[in-house]
Amino acid sequence: MESYQLIIKLGDTFETCAGKLGFFSFPKGFYIYTGSARRNLEARIQRHLLKFKKLHWQTDYLLKDLNANIVQIERSLERECKWNKNVHGKIISPGFGSSDCVEKCESHLKYFDSLNLGNENWKKSTVEKYEISQIQYTF
Ligand SMILES: [Zn+2]
Repeated sequence: MESYQLIIKLGDTFETCAGKLGFFSFPKGFYIYTGSARRNLEARIQRHLLKFKKLHWQTDYLLKDLNANIVQIERSLERECKWNKNVHGKIISPGFGSSDCVEKCESHLKYFDSLNLGNENWKKSTVEKYEISQIQYTF
């Protein structure tokens, strides 16, 4: 199973109701979401990049905001939960993205008011990395 991280930049505070999880107020800043896919990781990532889609994953509720943009994607063979626990951001949305979490992470979405994307310290065992600008897709 491959894991991935979405580095999301939120340009302005965004309030939304995320299905059963209820109401959330996401402050402006950066979010790192850690997820995994049993198969077809590429398709999952491409889906995350689509702005308009049926809301299915909890991250969809954040990414639907026009001010929320994926600025970087990381991939790893690291286990999703272990990788997530190594991301020391703030948890502002308990339960978010961790509904199928097996290691009781409080959330798979971590918040940073600022993030130096050039600083590699927060990354772990990255096997492949690409910038969103290098991905070809059309709307
Ligand atoms: Zn977890």
